[in-house]
Amino acid sequence: MQRFQCYINGEFADGEARFESIDPATGLAWAEMPEAREADVDRAVEAARNALDGGPWAKLSATQRGKLLYKLADLVAENAGKLAELETRDTGKIIRETSAQIAYVADYYRYYAGIADKIEGSYLPIDKPDMDVWLRREPIGVVAMVVPWNSQLFLSAVKIGPALAAGCTMVVKASEDGPAPLLEFARLVHEAGFPAGVVNIITGFGPSCGAALSRHPQVDHIAFTGGPETARHVVRNSAENLASTSLELGGKSPFIVFADTDLDSAANAQVAGIFAATGQSCVAGSRLIVERSIKDRFLQILKAKAEAIRIGSPLDMATEVGPLATQRQCDHVKALVARSLAAGATLVTGGTAPEAAGFYYQPTILDCDGSASPSLDNEFFGPVLSVLSFETEAEALRLANDTRYGLAAGVFTQNLTRAHRLMKGIHAGIVWVNTYRAVSPIAPFGGFGLSGHGREGGLQAALDYTRTKTVWLRTSDDPIPDPFVMR
Ligand code: NAD
Repeated sequence: MQRFQCYINGEFADGEARFESIDPATGLAWAEMPEAREADVDRAVEAARNALDGGPWAKLSATQRGKLLYKLADLVAENAGKLAELETRDTGKIIRETSAQIAYVADYYRYYAGIADKIEGSYLPIDKPDMDVWLRREPIGVVAMVVPWNSQLFLSAVKIGPALAAGCTMVVKASEDGPAPLLEFARLVHEAGFPAGVVNIITGFGPSCGAALSRHPQVDHIAFTGGPETARHVVRNSAENLASTSLELGGKSPFIVFADTDLDSAANAQVAGIFAATGQSCVAGSRLIVERSIKDRFLQILKAKAEAIRIGSPLDMATEVGPLATQRQCDHVKALVARSLAAGATLVTGGTAPEAAGFYYQPTILDCDGSASPSLDNEFFGPVLSVLSFETEAEALRLANDTRYGLAAGVFTQNLTRAHRLMKGIHAGIVWVNTYRAVSPIAPFGGFGLSGHGREGGLQAALDYTRTKTVWLRTSDDPIPDPFVMR
C-alpha cells in the first residue's frame, strides 16, 4: 500500500494516527494516509504564524513571491499526469477530466504569479492640508483552508494561488475522502522552494482536524469549500478566533431551456452539467427547467445521451462516468432517489446502482412535474437530474429562483433580450448563457444564499487575501495645536 505524509514547516511527517484511503472503483483500501489531530494542527499553524511574522517569506518582494508561484505552476504542469492519476485513484473522478483539469490548475498558479506584484496600495486625496495618507495592502495573515474531496487540486489552487500572491501563509486541510493528490502536491511546493511554514498541508477528519484548525487562535481567515451544514460548524468555530470566512458551498442550479434553442447543443451542455464528474460538482445543473412544448423531445434526446454514457474504470480514458467518491455518497444518492420516487417523481432513465464492485450509480433523470419531489431542494452531489417544465418566461424565472441556493445557472435561448432579462433576474453568482460549466482563473466564482459568500478566481480574490492599513503622515513642522480637538 502506498503511504502518504503531511507537510508541516517544510518537512514531511506522519500524523498522530493513520487511516486507510479507499479506492472508489473497487471499494478496497489502496493507501495509508496520515491523520492529523490537534497537536499536528498546532504545529502547522505555529509554522505558518512564524513564517508570516518573520523569516525569509516576510522579507521577499512581491516579485520574488510571483517567481516562486511561476515555478510552482511549471511543476504542476510537469507533474499533471501523476497528480491526475492520484486524484482519479483516490476519488474516482475520471482520468479524462482530472488530466485536463490539473493541467489547467497550472494556469491558475500562473495567473496569480502575475498578480503578485500588481497588488497596489493607494494614496488618498485627504481633506487636510498638512497630511499625507496612504492605504497599504498587507496579507490578511494565517489562512486555514478546508476543502472537500472533489477537484481538490483545483479548489485549493483558487485559495493557495491568491493567498500566496498576497503574501499570506497557510494550513491546507485536504479532505479525508481522497487526500492523495494534495499530499503529493506538497512535494511540488517543497521543490519550488517556498520557505518552510509558508504552505503546510495536512489531512484528517472534520471534528478532530478541521474543527481544531478553524477555531485555532492563530488563524486570521478561513477559506472553506464544502457543504452548508459543515459551513455552519466552521462559522461557529470562527466565533472562537473571530477569523473572517469565505464560504464556497453547494448548489441546486437551474438549467433553463427555451424552445428556440439548439436542442442537441443544450442537451450536450446538460450532460456536462449533471453527468460529468459523476454529478459531483458544486455547479451541477441539477434542475432542468424546460419549456413545456419541447419537454418530451428534449427528454428523449437527453435519455438517449444518458443511456449511451460509458460507465467504467475511472482510470480508463474512454470512461465517461466513474464511481462516486464514497460509499456514504452512494447511499445518499440511492436514498434521495427513493424518497423522490415515493413523493411522485417518475423515472425517465437510470435509478439503479450497477451490480459491480465500487460506488457506481447510473446516470438518472427524474421527471418531477406535478410532484413535491425532495430532489428539487436537496443536493445529490451525484448523477441525478430533476426535471420541471414551464409555459412562460416568468414561470421559468420563478422556478429557477425557487431555491435557497444560488451558485450557478444556465440559460439556453436564441432570444437576446430574454437572455438579458434572465441574467439579471436569476439569483446566482454565475450565469452561463448557451454554455455551461466553463471556468477560468480570470473569472470570479462563487455563490449567493446557501451557496456561500466570497469569490474565488479573478483579481478580487487576491485582494480579498489582503487587509488595508491606513497610514497618516503629518507633513507640517509646526507644533501640534490644541490637543483637545480632534484633527
Ligand atoms: P463536507 O462539508 O462534508 O467537507 C468539507 C471539508 O470540511 C472536509 O475537508 C471535512 O473534513 C471538513 N470538515 C468536516 N467537518 C468539519 C468541522 N466540524 N469543522 C471544520 N471542517 C470540517 O463536504 P464534502 O461532502 O466533502 O463535499 C461536498 C460538498 O462540497 C457539496 O455540498 C458541494 O456542493 C460542496 N462544494 C462546493 C464548491 C464550491 O466552490 N462552491 C466546490 C466543490 C464542492
